[in-house]
Parts: sequence; C-alpha cells; structure tokens
Amino acid sequence: MTKKIVVFTGAGVSADSGIPTYRSSDGLWANYKIEDVCTPEALARDRATVINFYNMRRREMAGKLPNAGHKAIAELEQYFDVEVVTQNIDNLHEAAGSTKIIHLHGELTKLREDSGERYITDIGLRDQRLDETAPNGELLRPHIVFFGEAVPMFEHAAMVVNSADILIVVGTSLAVYPAASLVQYVRDSSVPIYIVDPAELNIRSRNPITHIRERAAVGMPQLAEILKRKLGD
Ligand code: NAD
Repeated sequence: MTKKIVVFTGAGVSADSGIPTYRSSDGLWANYKIEDVCTPEALARDRATVINFYNMRRREMAGKLPNAGHKAIAELEQYFDVEVVTQNIDNLHEAAGSTKIIHLHGELTKLREDSGERYITDIGLRDQRLDETAPNGELLRPHIVFFGEAVPMFEHAAMVVNSADILIVVGTSLAVYPAASLVQYVRDSSVPIYIVDPAELNIRSRNPITHIRERAAVGMPQLAEILKRKLGD
C-alpha cells in the first residue's frame, strides 16, 4: 500500500523564496506589533491599517517563486500519498504543484465575510479596497486566522496528521499554538518524524526523530532522496 506522508510546514519553507520568517531579525514582527495588524481587535479598531498590512504582503508575494524545498515536497507525490498542512498564508505549495494542502492560518489571496466563512472570494495578489463587500452587503476581511482566533481547520489537520505513516516538519519553530501541538497527533510512537530546519528545535515526542539541520531548499531534496531510497529497501 502507498505510504502516507504528512508534511507540516511553517514560514521557514518559504524563507528560501525570499519571504522572511516572522521571528528572524529582518522578519515582519521586527517592524510591526502583532496587536496592531494581526488581531480581531485591530481589525475592529483600525481596519485600514490591517487591510493595508495584508495588501503589502500580497504585493510582496508578486514574483515570488516556489523553491527547491516546495518542489521536493510536491514531487514526493510521485511515490507517496502526500498531504501538506501549512501554517503559511502564501500560495507557494500550490505553485510548486502540491495537490492536497490544508492552510491552517488562512490564505493571503482570499477575502471572507467579517462574521464568518459563508462567502470566500479569491482576489489573487491585488489590493483589497477598504469598502469591498460580500454579495450580502457585509464587509470583507482578509481570509486569515488572526492571533487569538480559533483555528477552524485544526481538527481536520489533526486527523490528517493522525493518518500519517511518516511525518515531516519543515521550517517551523513550533512556537505558535495550537498549530505546534499538531505533532502530538501522530498515530503512535513508531511513526518516524523528520525535521528540516537549520535551528535546534524543542520538540517533545517519543517518536524516532531525524533532524536535518539545513535550509529547506537544501534539506528537503536530501530528505526526499532518503525517503525514495527507503522505498526500495
Ligand atoms: P517562525 O518564524 O516562528 O519559525 C520559522 C522557522 O523556520 C524557524 O524554526 C527557523 O529556524 C526556520 N527557518 C528559517 N529559515 C529557514 C530556511 N531557509 N529553511 C528552513 N527553515 C528555516 O514561523 P512559523 O513557525 O511558521 O510560525 C509563525 C507564524 O507566522 C505562522 O503562523 C505562519 O502562518 C506565519 N507566517 C507565514 C509566512 C508565509 O506565509 N510565508 C511568513 C511568515 C510567517
């Protein structure tokens, strides 16, 4: 039977495409306060600043391409049943050709109604106008899970992690909850966990862990080779 690989990614997988991680010294949070741009309270208090922040993120995405890390993940689909669970709001896994992707924290290219998710619209990388509304007249907001908001896709993502024969974790500091707790949902302690991240990570798990301390664009193709070789064993 085809083995199931779940790949859990964070900002680090897109760093090699020129999108800074949030916690790096040139990262976004060095210039912005989370509470000003990435919370429901900020949206209620100063809609223009929040919408503008995400307009800038979309402009920044223009011309950004998937790197060898995204591509190696997509190519694993030739050998394995692969599902990606990403914390990223960019669309670089899609651009690389991955076909099953769960966006835990939403998508930069989409807007939704202020009060829910009945209406979601794709705007690509264009700016959102301040007065844009859904067909029912309600104002639209970025389709992003803000800090302090529930993560609607979490349970589904936990189920997907639970179905993994192999779990790969790429470019996430495992610092943002509840997303970081997803690794605890592996089926049992025999499921191997592979980590690709240049930094030392604090991962609490009884499972066999292999840490490839490389950038995603280097480490992910290496890991893909290791996994393909194991298929032949
Ligand atoms: P993080 O910034 O907390 O951690 C990034 C991790 O990536 C760190 O462990 C770091 O060592 C590692 N890293 C840095 N450069 C790397 C590289 N070249 N290759 C591989 N790994 C590298 O990011 P996070 O854990 O994803 O959590 C922060 C939150 O910020 C998430 O919710 C995410 O949605 C959001 N975010 C998204 C984007 C995006 O959509 N591209 C960018 C920044 C932040």
